[in-house]
Amino acid sequence: MRLTDKFGRAIHDLRISITDRCNYRCVYCRTGTNGAAYAELPFADYLRMAGILVSLGITKIRLTGGEPLLRKRIVEFVRDLAKLRTVDGHKPEIALTTNGHLLAEIVEPLKDAGLDRVTVSMDAVDPERFARITRVPNGFDSVLAGVRASRRAGLEPVKVNCVLLRGFNEDQIIPFGMFARDEDVVVRFIEFMPLEEDRVWTPEVVVTLDEIVARMSEYRRLVEVQHQRSETARRYRFDDGVGEIGIIAPVSHPFCGHCSRIRITSDGKLRTCLFSAWDHDLHELMRRGASDEKLVEFILKTIEQKEERHHIGEPGFVPASRTMVHIGG
Ligand code: SAM
Repeated sequence: MRLTDKFGRAIHDLRISITDRCNYRCVYCRTGTNGAAYAELPFADYLRMAGILVSLGITKIRLTGGEPLLRKRIVEFVRDLAKLRTVDGHKPEIALTTNGHLLAEIVEPLKDAGLDRVTVSMDAVDPERFARITRVPNGFDSVLAGVRASRRAGLEPVKVNCVLLRGFNEDQIIPFGMFARDEDVVVRFIEFMPLEEDRVWTPEVVVTLDEIVARMSEYRRLVEVQHQRSETARRYRFDDGVGEIGIIAPVSHPFCGHCSRIRITSDGKLRTCLFSAWDHDLHELMRRGASDEKLVEFILKTIEQKEERHHIGEPGFVPASRTMVHIGG
């Protein structure tokens, strides 16, 4: 079976948030308070959900949060996920999105357990600015160590995601270009979306794809690289072939028509879109003792309700029912 929604989009990417706690309090994401707003489940529950979704056509699983590395026993969870088999009989691709703070010590065991790829979030390459954004002192060196350890562990290409905010860190564009070349990582800029706790988003704060390309080209010429339809990032290499940049532009160049994702929140709700106005309570059904067949039925019905697209920036835009940290980015 292959999961397909009513717009003909194949659904093959699953993101699982395993906690909505985070050890960073990034200014564009959190209000400044720590802590969870929603429950987290035993790994066995996520594993059962993932197993059913993989049997329906999911081929890639990304673990996220909150900060996923705050969950103890994540290595064992990755090992269990790696035992699942896709419809075609392969191990699902397993990826991790992390702020990287705790990554250096655990990346090798994660790789051995079956992790295939890692994305580290970093919004400045200047340590002081980094601390101002994350509101945690001295984090930069730990994250850099995590990036380097990931490369050493062979999880290449390591991706580094940066959210740009006008007037705040847009001056980091060229330094990130240099960072991509020096550290041999793919740096991907993400346009800021209205998914923050403080509701401070305005279109003016978004640094757009066109602006990023223009600014980076002042440093070195960029050449666009062909990307796959379901890939969210537009890809560019520098003209001398050293270093790759990606730009994820959900605001200025939406890619909803190619969306292949479904999400499980830390408390076991299915979400069909980052901007969904409601969640679908898969865990409640499990808690009441539903059979796998019942869960499959529920998942198929949920996927039928996947939204055609988001409405960022349009009149009457309705904010998502949860913010990014509580969905799983
Ligand atoms: N803690 C992990 C991390 O830092 O990567 C995973 C969760 S975090 C919510 C995932 C990603 O979402 C990060 O790269 C973060 O920068 C991004 N993010 C958070 N709020 C965002 C927003 N409003 N718009 C775009 N990206 C956002």
